[in-house]
Amino acid sequence: MKTLGKSHKLDNVCYDIRGPVMDEANRMIAEGTEILKLNIGNPAPFMFRAPKDVINAMTDSLSDVEGYSDSKGLLSAREAIIKYDETKGIHGVTVDDVFTGNGASELITLSMQALLDNGDEVLVPAPDYPLWTASVTLAGGNAIHYICDERSDWYPDIDDIKSKITDKTKGIVIINPNNPTGALYPEEVLQQIVDVAREHGLIIYSDEIYDRLLMDGNKHTSIASLCPDLFCVTFNGLSKSHMIAGFRCGWMSLSGDKSRVKGYIEGINMLSSMRLCSNVPAQSVIPAALRSNDQLESMLLPGGRIYEQREYITKRLNDIDGITAVKPKAAFYIFPKIDAARFNIRDDEQFVLDFLKEKHILLVHGGGFHWETPDHFRIVYLPDLDQLKTSMDELEDFLKTYRQK
Ligand code: PLP
Repeated sequence: MKTLGKSHKLDNVCYDIRGPVMDEANRMIAEGTEILKLNIGNPAPFMFRAPKDVINAMTDSLSDVEGYSDSKGLLSAREAIIKYDETKGIHGVTVDDVFTGNGASELITLSMQALLDNGDEVLVPAPDYPLWTASVTLAGGNAIHYICDERSDWYPDIDDIKSKITDKTKGIVIINPNNPTGALYPEEVLQQIVDVAREHGLIIYSDEIYDRLLMDGNKHTSIASLCPDLFCVTFNGLSKSHMIAGFRCGWMSLSGDKSRVKGYIEGINMLSSMRLCSNVPAQSVIPAALRSNDQLESMLLPGGRIYEQREYITKRLNDIDGITAVKPKAAFYIFPKIDAARFNIRDDEQFVLDFLKEKHILLVHGGGFHWETPDHFRIVYLPDLDQLKTSMDELEDFLKTYRQK
């Protein structure tokens, strides 16, 4: 197990909820300016409501969940998670292998704290959901970014992954379905990642928090289902699929061969016990939530809100001169490319800041997701069609004259 209590360097960590753009947005809001927020994946403010049976499960259980639970979580919640894992082809997970968390976020951080000694490396996608890089760095490790390739539907570039493995590489992170690109990885791509992990003895960390937000009849494959011989940590939760990000309800399941990671699991158990347990009322809704979610399914079909908003945003972006965007297959994000040469963009954060100041619309620059070239930004397409239309009209208008100074 790693030693705790060292100093951390967080200088290279980007996170989309802080920085000059957010500071400016907060300043404008404090002055009374109305800002259209296309920057955060939080469904509730955009009139997405949690399924009724989830709310009922929470209110019905409140008087029974006043105390701490087992540090890993309520047995009923962990049993429901095991059943869910089985439907995804992840077999052999026991109640000792499931940890509930205050969101998947807490467990991402915990899993890295338990894993890393100073200087250890973890392969993290670029672009990434920035909490991953932050968690690796906070734990004293180095996040080594591998490229996801826009020209191949944003799939991980396997050659780039291979070229970045060293004797310090401990694990590989995949985010599937992906934030910020909306990509969904096919089995062939996952199989290649499994082959690399097997050859180099890497732990696979798979963040699958969007696995129920799929469109176009696509199916999600859990990478752990392809490699019962490898140790995998699979993350999931209810923040997105059940629109209850504020409840803070997530989990991770450990699967596969644990014989080489006994010390690591001991570390995870210790850190899990140290936080006593995750929010118990939130855990209590897991069995009901995982039974079915018809409300979500209909939103993802033609005529449904998320589906139609994806169709709209993809078309409008691609109709703007100087912007191209790969159509997302899952989640509710799109990561368009902007022609940096044409608009003289050398600093993508400045571009987003200039757009915010002029049009009062908040995006996140690609650098916030560890994308190195200043030619991308992320849109959360949860706001309704009217708001998306306004945002696209304004972006089109802004780019007619914008040239970065
Ligand atoms: N993983 C990914 C890929 C995310 O996009 C997010 C939130 O945006 C999270 C994890 C955090 O999830 P939770 O609310 O369960 O902490």
